[in-house]
Amino acid sequence: MVRPTTPSMRKKSINGRMVKAAPQRTCVSCRQIGEKRGLVRLVRTPDGRVELDSTGKRAGRGAYLCAKPECWDAGINGGKLEHSLKVTMTREDRQQLLEKGLDLIKEKIG
Ligand SMILES: [Zn+2]
Repeated sequence: MVRPTTPSMRKKSINGRMVKAAPQRTCVSCRQIGEKRGLVRLVRTPDGRVELDSTGKRAGRGAYLCAKPECWDAGINGGKLEHSLKVTMTREDRQQLLEKGLDLIKEKIG
């Protein structure tokens, strides 16, 4: 009798590499990758509006914009933010958000 060779139990050694995602975010306007603190988070609220998330911890779909007025202008008025968050904003919404955003940036960069 020929004994079937038992295949050695091959242990799959999955290298448990801890790939920690660096806290880097992409600006939806200029697509530049920056550190989280250099960007401002915006969050889509459950009722489909967009609000600033100055803490960066609010739940919901988020998008980021650099702390640069030109990114806010292009991102909001150019529709990139809406596209990224899959929302539709009215002209008023955009204006308000842009104003709030610019205020926040001023505080951020002093
Ligand atoms: Zn930007």
